[in-house]
Amino acid sequence: HKLLTGQRALVTGANSGIGKAVAIALGQAGADVVINYVDDDAAATAVVEEIKKSGTRAYAHKADVSSEDQVAAMFARMMQEFGTVDILVSNAGLQRDSAFHEMTLAQWNKVLNVNLTGQFLCARAAVREFLRRGVVPSVSSAAGKIICMSSVHQEIPWGGHVNYASSKGGIKLLMESMAQELAPKRIRVNAIAPGAIRTPINTAAWQTKEAYDSLMTLVPYGRIGEPEDIARAAVWLASDHSDYVVGTTLFVDGGMTLY
Ligand code: NAD
Repeated sequence: HKLLTGQRALVTGANSGIGKAVAIALGQAGADVVINYVDDDAAATAVVEEIKKSGTRAYAHKADVSSEDQVAAMFARMMQEFGTVDILVSNAGLQRDSAFHEMTLAQWNKVLNVNLTGQFLCARAAVREFLRRGVVPSVSSAAGKIICMSSVHQEIPWGGHVNYASSKGGIKLLMESMAQELAPKRIRVNAIAPGAIRTPINTAAWQTKEAYDSLMTLVPYGRIGEPEDIARAAVWLASDHSDYVVGTTLFVDGGMTLY
């Protein structure tokens, strides 16, 4: 019996980087997994194939998390294919960097829509299903679990990225407010705040030695994070091992927030 046997998970932004590692780790822990993505069908299919090696079910579903209709259709299909949802890892996110005075409204809106409104839409869809069915004792001691992918930039200002930092600051209080409101229904909402993780989103920061060394001056633990560092935290937050953990942000950042 694995940690997440019998659980059904949806991971957004799961064909790349952190989401991909989380999806694979949930599958290895015994969960069935929906791989959400917006582009690169081949990458999504590769994640599905990897998860199927664990002996659990998986399929890919293309949907823009900032579209109410597409999120509704994604959850409707999950109800058909898997019957219900137990775990949402709301991970999809992007950056549109710019000097503040040159930032366009389109850059601002894109980041807020995907990073923050996308979290709202996916969480709302999951919570409606959690409330509909209530606690299922054979599956879990919670009625459902939501993990929001935040960032150390929910705490640390980030000039040149004010849209991104604003979206992550928003996720912090969205997560905490949902956690407070939904805990009496036995729905557990938590967040992970990654530090500097080796993924395509921040390629420039770790590819040259100079950029890597400069990044490491910010990380007491002295190494960049790997997507698997985040995946292990997600498996724990999704499991009953964290059953009394409610509304917390788990920093997985090599100590970055200690400076
Ligand atoms: P990534 O670019 O590798 O992955 C982002 C994923 O989000 C991709 O799968 C992409 O297809 C998906 N996505 C983008 N827009 C979408 C949309 N509209 N609908 C659905 N999916 C969409 O980057 P990553 O580093 O793996 O980032 C994953 C999450 O982790 C993001 O929320 C990011 O802010 C957060 N994060 C990353 C780091 C880091 O250092 N890599 C640090 C802190 C937080």
